[in-house]
Amino acid sequence: MSTLSSLVDALASGAVEVVDLTQPLSDRTPLLQLPEPFANTPGFALHELSRYDERGPAWYWNSFEGGEHVGTHFDAPVHWVTGKDSEDVSQVPPARLVGPAVVIDRSAEAAADSDFLLSVEDVRAFESEHGPLPTDGWLLVRTGWDTRAHDQDAFLNANETGPHTPGFSIDCARWLAEETPLIGIGVETVGTDAGAAHSFDPPFPCHSFMLGAGKYGLTQLANLAQLPPTGTFLVAAPLKIVGGSGSPVRVLAFVPRGDGA
Ligand code: MN
Repeated sequence: MSTLSSLVDALASGAVEVVDLTQPLSDRTPLLQLPEPFANTPGFALHELSRYDERGPAWYWNSFEGGEHVGTHFDAPVHWVTGKDSEDVSQVPPARLVGPAVVIDRSAEAAADSDFLLSVEDVRAFESEHGPLPTDGWLLVRTGWDTRAHDQDAFLNANETGPHTPGFSIDCARWLAEETPLIGIGVETVGTDAGAAHSFDPPFPCHSFMLGAGKYGLTQLANLAQLPPTGTFLVAAPLKIVGGSGSPVRVLAFVPRGDGA
């Protein structure tokens, strides 16, 4: 049997389950908030064109507006100044929008410390237990932050010193970008960098190193708790926005269940 026939059978039997890693996209989706004097992104909004009425008696449709970096979204290399001569979101090769994914669970650590930073040692320990990071694959970090995604204040978790959300250490961001075979990282928070990363050196090291290395970011993921540490196949499908720095993205995970997988 061909590989794809086997996959079709596995999906039909439930041996492979499709898990949606995407948060709902609406006018209630939490947004990144940058301090003055920086520009902020508008949220997502629908504008009704017709709904089975005199404007269109048999059809319902909307226009929509919103920032590229709203909700579950894809960061393309050109998003950051370190990647300014690299791919925009429409130029990412389709083969790099699919690939294997591994999941590191640090939800307990992030619950105890909202400024938790994943370290190189954390990833090395994961590799010792589960094998090497996947070539042309994704590292997804579960922090439990998806349970806050319904509430802007809880999601950003900001006080007078700024936002406090988990992320990656500077060294880990550099190492993942420059010394691992990954093509991207995915997180549950509003951006790939920690809330406090504005004060890091360099600022926002995940953006700086990963996008500068021609790699990608996925943010505001959901349902990572349903994924095993290894064995997931990820599909990330951003809109093909010509010249876009990123896009809302539908992220789907193919996950083996039970015996047949
Ligand atoms: Mn972004």
